[in-house]
Amino acid sequence: MNNHGAIVIGAGAGGLVAAWQLARSGCDVLLLDAWKWAGGLLAGAELGGLRVDVGAEGYSVRGGGVEQLLADLDAAHLIATPNPLGAWLQTASGPHPIPKGLLYGLPSDPEAADVRAVVGTLPEPTATSSGSFADVVRAGYGSRVLDDLVAPLVGGVYSTDPYGVTLDELAPDLAARVASGTPLREAVTQRVRTAPPGGAVHGIRGGMNALVELVVTSARAAPGAFELSCGEPVTGLERDGVRWRVTTTERTLTAPIVALALPVDAAARLLGAASVPQTTRIEVITLVLDAPGMRGDEPRGTGVLVGADVPGVTAKALTHSTAKWAWLREAAEGRDYVRLSYGRRGQAPASAGLDESDLRRLVTADAAALLGRPVPEPIEVRRTGWAILPPGTPGVAATRDWLTQQRSVGLGRVGAGVAGVGLAAVVPQARAEVARLIEEQADESALTRENA
Ligand SMILES: Cc1cc2nc3c(=O)[nH]c(=O)nc-3n(C[C@H](O)[C@H](O)[C@H](O)COP(=O)(O)OP(=O)(O)OC[C@H]3O[C@@H](n4cnc5c(N)ncnc54)[C@H](O)[C@@H]3O)c2cc1C
Repeated sequence: MNNHGAIVIGAGAGGLVAAWQLARSGCDVLLLDAWKWAGGLLAGAELGGLRVDVGAEGYSVRGGGVEQLLADLDAAHLIATPNPLGAWLQTASGPHPIPKGLLYGLPSDPEAADVRAVVGTLPEPTATSSGSFADVVRAGYGSRVLDDLVAPLVGGVYSTDPYGVTLDELAPDLAARVASGTPLREAVTQRVRTAPPGGAVHGIRGGMNALVELVVTSARAAPGAFELSCGEPVTGLERDGVRWRVTTTERTLTAPIVALALPVDAAARLLGAASVPQTTRIEVITLVLDAPGMRGDEPRGTGVLVGADVPGVTAKALTHSTAKWAWLREAAEGRDYVRLSYGRRGQAPASAGLDESDLRRLVTADAAALLGRPVPEPIEVRRTGWAILPPGTPGVAATRDWLTQQRSVGLGRVGAGVAGVGLAAVVPQARAEVARLIEEQADESALTRENA
């Protein structure tokens, strides 16, 4: 049996940061992942001679946690800022720049010219309905806001459908204000005034996937021993005296500290939950284009979010990556990188199951419709599928509660399943949870010494 100071299960952003922090504190740490590579959603792929992101491609600067991590990794010089052009919306009435000050697609200033340009004059609100998020939005703002602002934002950013999620599931902060009697429009305006949504997004030169190597290199140089084992799924986790016994497909290991860095479904499966929520498949399709006429042309800024029922388009979003990131534009030497996303909860991605030539046909047509210009046959097309749990997925809230009840000494939980989606939430939570685990371990050791 292999004994370690700590074992981290799952090498996505949460697990990587947790293992790095443990190694920095002098702990002998083993980081395990089921996949053949580390990083989870911080995934990269070789395409057109460059390594590009096929999962996360930026981070919110909210809270400063990711920038602090980059500083601690001596990598602050790699921070990249996106082209400030902003993104567009494609609605049934055509393309529009995304209005400023939206929260889940809800305008904080319904009178603003950029809002009116998309949805016209809003109807008077009717009594706030209590059904789906779509019902609440329609009552508060009318159908145009629902179809042309909320559906593209909620579909493109949260991979869910406003008809399949409640206000409480999608936006608990807004739900609390509405529940205490504030009309929805006022609640949105107040919330945007006190905490502007999103904030700035930054990236890393070389792509967010470069964070994996930065963290691993720093962890290897840390005072504690650091070992990373990929392609080794964990199949069992049990308390064994004062240690945890971790079973993988290859061996049995023990450690007094275990950090579970798994998505909610995988954590529930490992801990033996009676039921596990069903994931939704989404697909990211990356295209490399050699389109001389497109060079320096940013017809839709950094990308496009797609509204409900836009004829002839099946993608839910497009990112014009070479327009968004200067480092990529320079490295791409005149080629264009474009990524399209497909699939939202309750709706299989239109790209799923297509063979190479049908996939090329679909993505080229969608890219042309969304960029508003002809798009040539791509040099390369790469499909990446992800299984995610968008807001409103049945059973997620109950499973989260169940996982919280499984708390035990030496067992920590990190990653988006506990911290919330996005690196701005995942990174600081992983660091705080490791600090808690180390402190708890020190208290436990002191207690054992006292009792001896
Ligand atoms: C397409 C897409 C784009 C995104 N873009 C952004 C973005 O631009 N900016 C941003 O901030 N956020 C973005 N997000 C969200 C962000 O990527 C995630 O919130 C964050 O990366 C999650 O990290 P994690 O460690 O919780 O989980 P994951 O990255 O999901 O990692 C979990 C790991 O656990 C492993 N695992 C699962 N089961 C087992 C097992 N039994 N044994 C061992 N290992 C196991 C998996 O192999 C995986 O590596 C995006 C999400 C998606 C889906």
